[in-house]
Amino acid sequence: MSSSKSEAMLIDGKAIAQELTESLVHQVTQLKQKNITPGLAVVLVGEDPASQVYVRNKGKMAEKIGLHSVQFSLPAITSEADILKRIEALNEDPAIHGILVQLPLPDHIDSAKVLRLIRPEKDVDGFHPVNVGLLAAGLNGQALIPCTPAGCVILAKRHRGEDLSGLEAVIIGRSNIVGKPVAQLLLQENCTTTIVHSRTKNLAQHIGRADILVACLGRARFVKGDWIKPGATIIDVGINRIDAPEKGPGKTRLVGDVDFDNALSIAGAITPVPGGVGPMTIAMLMQNVVTAAQRFSKQ
Ligand code: NAP
Repeated sequence: MSSSKSEAMLIDGKAIAQELTESLVHQVTQLKQKNITPGLAVVLVGEDPASQVYVRNKGKMAEKIGLHSVQFSLPAITSEADILKRIEALNEDPAIHGILVQLPLPDHIDSAKVLRLIRPEKDVDGFHPVNVGLLAAGLNGQALIPCTPAGCVILAKRHRGEDLSGLEAVIIGRSNIVGKPVAQLLLQENCTTTIVHSRTKNLAQHIGRADILVACLGRARFVKGDWIKPGATIIDVGINRIDAPEKGPGKTRLVGDVDFDNALSIAGAITPVPGGVGPMTIAMLMQNVVTAAQRFSKQ
């Protein structure tokens, strides 16, 4: 993490994720002493290249911290009934504490139906309605919390400290997987929380109030530097691929939802893309598998 007088502090998600995974290794060792090896099953349907990379990275990280990790790569033509059968088997498998179905699923499969079948206590993505409800009710200790939102809060605290009370938090985006749960978490941290979305009027005005800005709309460099409140904490969740002719013909690169170069001289702290929220998502997934196994060990 570095800071200077004129530039925002860079919140190094990669380094923070590394710290978290080191502490997870210790927790996994303790579970193994009780003869429990936390187990993660990842179900991938189809050949989407981005999904294949995500699943591979999750598998590698799981092995690195000593989890039992299994992957089911099913062809895109797999029927919904077969996927549901696979989930039922994993629900019953005592060696598996966490089940993750990589989204998006092919169009002929009802994703909501598949996600609802995962036992809430094995739902390490935190997308099951039971976990959504527990989070909304503030019963986080019984829930599994969605990984990217949980990571966003940890990153914001690296700049603001543990107490976020009274800060203005503005979240751009209201998806079920990022925007809404990150808003719930920041509300629980006693932030004054606003969600803005594609129908919001005077967007820049709302953004300009934010002490903590979470950009999760999926639009490349959408948030301009001069919209940002000086000193704000910027958590950039967006992952957008854009052309990068400077790297050569046909080349691309990843950018966030915030115009990073302009924001750097105005924000107090900012997460880079890549290397910010992304690595935290995987670390929080591993944390959820370990948490699920710890709860299982107490049953
Ligand atoms: P999503 O389901 O497409 O939701 C986008 C949200 O942004 C919607 O609520 C939409 O509003 C809002 N929005 C879109 N355009 C807007 C605009 N011009 N002004 C204001 N609001 C606007 O996306 P998502 O799944 O939440 O993902 C968001 C981004 O985060 C994507 O780039 C995704 O790749 C990235 N992501 C990263 C990670 C990670 O680990 N780093 C994890 C998950 C997602 P409406 O509801 O009104 O349409």
